[in-house]
Amino acid sequence: MTDHDVFAELYGHSSETCASAPGRVNLIGDHTDYNGGFVLPTALPQRTRVQLRGRDDRRVRAASAQRPGVVGYELGAEHKTGGWLDYVQGITTILAAEGRPLAGFELYVDSDVPVGSGLSSSAALEVALLRGLRKLLSLGLDDDVVAALAHRAETEFVGAPVGIMDQLVCSKGDESTALFIDTRSLVVEPIALPPDLGLVVIDSGVPHDHSTGDYRKRRAECEQAAALLGVWQLRDVEAGDPRIAGLPEPLARRTRHVVEENQRVLDAVRALSAADLPALGRLFDESHRSMRDDFEVSLPAIDLLVALARRHPAVLGARLTGGGFGGAVVILTLRAHTAAVALDVVAAYSAILPREPMVILPWLHAQQNHPMNLES
Ligand code: ADP
Ligand code: MG
Repeated sequence: MTDHDVFAELYGHSSETCASAPGRVNLIGDHTDYNGGFVLPTALPQRTRVQLRGRDDRRVRAASAQRPGVVGYELGAEHKTGGWLDYVQGITTILAAEGRPLAGFELYVDSDVPVGSGLSSSAALEVALLRGLRKLLSLGLDDDVVAALAHRAETEFVGAPVGIMDQLVCSKGDESTALFIDTRSLVVEPIALPPDLGLVVIDSGVPHDHSTGDYRKRRAECEQAAALLGVWQLRDVEAGDPRIAGLPEPLARRTRHVVEENQRVLDAVRALSAADLPALGRLFDESHRSMRDDFEVSLPAIDLLVALARRHPAVLGARLTGGGFGGAVVILTLRAHTAAVALDVVAAYSAILPREPMVILPWLHAQQNHPMNLES
């Protein structure tokens, strides 16, 4: 059954317009965003797609292939429910707050971005919906405004304390380019990915949850460390600053991760620009060690995936990507080896842990011939 059929089956008529947005993977630079530092994400081939049809009233009806049932609300009466509809309500709440003209609509969402794996299904949903509403209601929003509105929906309405990286890359990124983002100035610099670079992203099958205490605790520790060092944010601390070692633990370890990770992002941009993939791979490895030992956001299942990847002769580097406490790993290899690396690592992982990881690969996606494989 196609997505088009599902919309008609749900709502009794076909959709009026559609839009999509990609998930994203952060190549390097994790837990740096809320410290005013650097990140280097790229868009995934996987996308979230929305189909929409306008209504004559102020009612919103919404369904997702990834969630059961049809849910809804009245525009102007948005209220948090704790479910996925909060992302939709967040978008209409923020659009209304911005004085944008709104009308009711019917929505169907389908996505091949894994949900809750640190690959930004939430921003893909927000950006896809904003792109769809931009078309449906002729809102005339540019990609920067879409990212900003999506970010406000997630932080102000849904209540997830996330930086703007996800929304920026889902709105402005593509698969052949990484975005070097200075999260303090929000200056975005596109960095072309070398054509022979191959990425394999493997979902560990352990879902993360940003609202859990661990993520907030790390943020608080960074703020505490910055206060003790007398700086606004850890971005303002130099790598190798002797005062870092003088901090009480675990603050010294946390600070070392953030400060060195910022430097690694700068080094990764240089490595990419020089098409020096072995150097980039070493940075991936160092970043993983730092996430595991200093920032302590990895898990045994993730460390296992990284170790299995690292044992593969075609792999140049591997690391946990995203906030941690679950989620996915990103593996650097050569484009020609992506399929072999993915299959070998997944087979080895599945033999040890019963959880089925999801492999994410451009070549798999290209073979899918999705009926709604539409650009924005
Ligand atoms: P991530 O962005 O890393 O995937 P989040 O916890 O930030 O994880 O966002 C996941 C949440 O976003 C889901 O629990 C759900 O509420 C919502 N969501 C994302 N994609 C979809 C989808 N295709 N259908 C319904 N809800 C979705
Ligand atoms: Mg998210």
